[in-house]
Amino acid sequence: MTTPANYRGYRVMTLPGDGVGPEIVAAARRVLDAAGQRYGYLLAYEEGVMGGCAIDAFGTPMEAGLIERCQKCDAVLLGAVGGPKWDTTDPDKPRPEQGLLGMRKGLELFANLRPVRSFKALAHNSTLKPEVIDGVDMLVVRELTGGVYFGKSERTADTAYDTMIYSEAEVERLVEYAFTVAEGRRKLVHSVDKANVLESSRLWRAVAIRVAERHPNVELRHMLVDNCAMQFIRDPKQFDVIATENLFGDVLSDEAAMLTGSIGMLPSASVGASGVSLYEPIHGSAPDIAGKGLANPCATILSAAMMLDLSFGEREAARAVERAVETALEQGARTADIAAFGETKLGTAEMTDAILAALAAG
Ligand code: NAD
Repeated sequence: MTTPANYRGYRVMTLPGDGVGPEIVAAARRVLDAAGQRYGYLLAYEEGVMGGCAIDAFGTPMEAGLIERCQKCDAVLLGAVGGPKWDTTDPDKPRPEQGLLGMRKGLELFANLRPVRSFKALAHNSTLKPEVIDGVDMLVVRELTGGVYFGKSERTADTAYDTMIYSEAEVERLVEYAFTVAEGRRKLVHSVDKANVLESSRLWRAVAIRVAERHPNVELRHMLVDNCAMQFIRDPKQFDVIATENLFGDVLSDEAAMLTGSIGMLPSASVGASGVSLYEPIHGSAPDIAGKGLANPCATILSAAMMLDLSFGEREAARAVERAVETALEQGARTADIAAFGETKLGTAEMTDAILAALAAG
């Protein structure tokens, strides 16, 4: 029997951020703490300021010393950053997402993981036919610290350019990660590129082939990014793990997210070389519903479950949280974004209560 005296302990940096961020991080903390009591761990939380709130407080998109504080924690849980208040096209003004990009760089978070699984209870939410969606279980592994978002870019009076640049080492660690994850899944990796046009993609493909030789029990398939965008809609069940570069992954992972119907349901993890991973919902700060207690907390709660699993090795608790979300949905709990016509719409706190009740009963 685990008693509080021998609970396992983990330190979590929370970055609530902007918009609905503070509401959904608070919801996730309630679930994390309840699961901890049941499964024998205790979390110590720190709070950091990043995003528009940091611009307001300090004039910079991240409070000073935040990366170092994160490095002393076991994991980071982020709400969301940004909002119209800080939108600007002036390149000299700070922008909230610079905080996020800086955090990715600072913690060397080179791989972004987005699991996409269909929820039976939400089959009607997808714009695709239920039979196309039912049973979808894929993981997009997106390169996060290289490519066009970090290459040299410049704007002159009437032209602009951005550079997509990759080293073999950057590609190799991402593709290796994807193959390692695939070993524990259905053992299929789609490496997605644009090798018919881009030199950086031809390098990507060559490295993917080399990495695949080290994983003979995992099948490698190459797919061009335009075809992949189409195949996601045509037959998403054909995919297990998708490995791709930063820009393609940005677009494809949002497309994959919509397969299940709501952006409010999907978690993500960013993992990297430093050993401190960052967990966040895939959605943004939802300024249109911020402060109203209406946000769907599921994506953040499921991100917290990924944290329990990948950062702390608390697999049993992670599965229990995932099951609790599923059970709450099966019992009819819905926030407005996932409610069908006529269904009762719960607020953030009530939805969290439903998940906590399912966790306690599970
Ligand atoms: P968004 O994801 O914030 O919102 C898109 C739509 O989805 C909105 O109608 C919103 O109400 C809804 N939505 C999002 N999350 C929801 C939730 N949990 N529950 C219910 N409904 C939800 O995208 P956007 O409107 O394009 O961006 C808003 C701001 O968020 C922008 O400033 C953008 O830069 C920022 N953003 C931040 C991140 C991040 O922090 N990682 C990611 C994407 C966008």
